[in-house]
Amino acid sequence: MELKQLYAEIINEHNLNPSHRGQIKNPSMELRGVNPSCGDNIFLQIEFEDDKVKDAVFNGSGCAISQASVDMMCDLIIGQKKSEALRLSKIFNSMIQGTASEEEIESLDEASLLKDIAHMPARVKCAVLGWKTMEEMLLSDKKTSCASESCDGKNCPLRKNSGE
Ligand code: ZN
Repeated sequence: MELKQLYAEIINEHNLNPSHRGQIKNPSMELRGVNPSCGDNIFLQIEFEDDKVKDAVFNGSGCAISQASVDMMCDLIIGQKKSEALRLSKIFNSMIQGTASEEEIESLDEASLLKDIAHMPARVKCAVLGWKTMEEMLLSDKKTSCASESCDGKNCPLRKNSGE
């Protein structure tokens, strides 16, 4: 139980004092991600240097899980290659689905603390929001997205593939 409390505290800390909340002046890519079922709304920006993530920040609002998860994700992907960021995102997803191996989960560092979300279906979308947004952004091969608060991400006029 003590361990569980520690997890809760770390998640809380990322939520209250996120290390990567902010804005990048010249992002290489940016995308808004929305989880309407909870009201989570984040705007993710990444700056690349060659093939590596030089900086990753987010903005927006949402529940503690969504905010902590995206903050942990930024921690993890800064300094990584695009391909590695995508690999970690895949692992995070399989962890949330309960199919990742112990070894894979360990490679997620602090984000591994969110693995119990697999048993909380209502919070799954909160936990994966940042990761899903990052994945969509990296795979879209497109620089910009809509910075508009009212944009729901999915139907963004600037997105190349808005289809599900
Ligand atoms: Zn949420």
